[in-house]
Amino acid sequence: MKILVLNSGSSSIKFQLFSMEKHEVLCHGLIEKIGEKLGHFKIKFGEKELQKDENIKDHSFGLSILQEVLVEEGILKNFDELGGVGHRVVHGGDFFDRAVLVNDEVVRKIEELSSLAPLHNPVNLLGIKALAKEYPKLKQVAVFDTAFHQTLPKTAYIYALPYEQYTKNHVRRYGFHGTSHSFVAKEAAKKLGKDMDEANLITIHLGNGDSITAIKNGKSIDTSMGLTPLEGLVMGTRCGDIDPAIIFYLSRKLGLNIDELDKMLNKQSGLKGICGDNDMREIEKRVKAKDEMAKLALEIFCYRVKKYIGAYSVAIGKVDAIVFTGGIGENSSTVREMVCEGLEDSLGIELDTEKNLNRNDIISKDSSKIKIFVIPTNEELEIAQQCYKIVS
Ligand code: ADP
Repeated sequence: MKILVLNSGSSSIKFQLFSMEKHEVLCHGLIEKIGEKLGHFKIKFGEKELQKDENIKDHSFGLSILQEVLVEEGILKNFDELGGVGHRVVHGGDFFDRAVLVNDEVVRKIEELSSLAPLHNPVNLLGIKALAKEYPKLKQVAVFDTAFHQTLPKTAYIYALPYEQYTKNHVRRYGFHGTSHSFVAKEAAKKLGKDMDEANLITIHLGNGDSITAIKNGKSIDTSMGLTPLEGLVMGTRCGDIDPAIIFYLSRKLGLNIDELDKMLNKQSGLKGICGDNDMREIEKRVKAKDEMAKLALEIFCYRVKKYIGAYSVAIGKVDAIVFTGGIGENSSTVREMVCEGLEDSLGIELDTEKNLNRNDIISKDSSKIKIFVIPTNEELEIAQQCYKIVS
């Protein structure tokens, strides 16, 4: 069965086509600059790459180009031949605790949840609606970033605000990056030789956005992102945890309005806010060249992760393994080393420096009580697998 995975943004669609029986990626690519004068279409089949520039007026037209190319390349006769299409949808609120087959009611609900993710849910729906219109028989599945965290207990998801902010306005911790945390957790359980529902893990996703999740008996019991992806770890351009009163203070002192503060906290903070760069590779280069601000940013970034590992170790009780994933987690031996430094005696987390530099799958010492894994995330595969489970 062939499953197409789509991640639709406001002016782009990332896609990947899987053959589920063969465990194979048939092609992947990107449709971008949708709605601009000149759009761009790029697709890769293994080594072979195809690109074209043309006006892509909307998502529907972008997907018709994709179908045309897949037909020309002899991969599909048309989209109706697909077993299903899995869509990444950012916010499932507390309504969706798992992936679902899309129908009118689901679309309505995702639309309703747009108030919680105004930049994401409406654009995630563009791909769903475009396909539903052209191929009404096609099975479409919505896979939510928040769903994996729906197992959080109330103690972890209720903020200490007036309770009616939860009951009336849905203010609570939802958590994000769920498909990534769930994917690497399942892989880690396999490596531990355990069933997922026996695995106790701390999964650390470090990319442009960063989050960390406490998993007890295979279920997410706490996670660092909150009502929105702004809370928690220090990120590329987002501040993560701060004293909320800083917002009132800055508003009063500088006369900044809510939108200006929103921009500051989401776009001008984090690593970028501290040292001017949000790309970890650049920061590491600058640290090597003895740049003090880059060093400070890196230290603050790693210290925040370390604090959460401590907190989540206590929340879980007995941790089997911690898992690094995401662009930084998978590739930066420096970040992994700085995060694990000093956790030997307190938590029994012992990093093997050489294995870490070689980026082995297991980078802890044999004597380490808690294993340390590096597991590449694959959110598209996770979406494809969840979609496959539902359509078959
Ligand atoms: P996204 O969250 O957008 O999916 P990624 O998971 O691709 O992003 O992560 C992007 C981050 O990974 C960037 O900060 C980038 O600098 C970092 N990164 C990628 N490769 C390396 C590397 N070899 N060493 C250090 N950081 C890296």
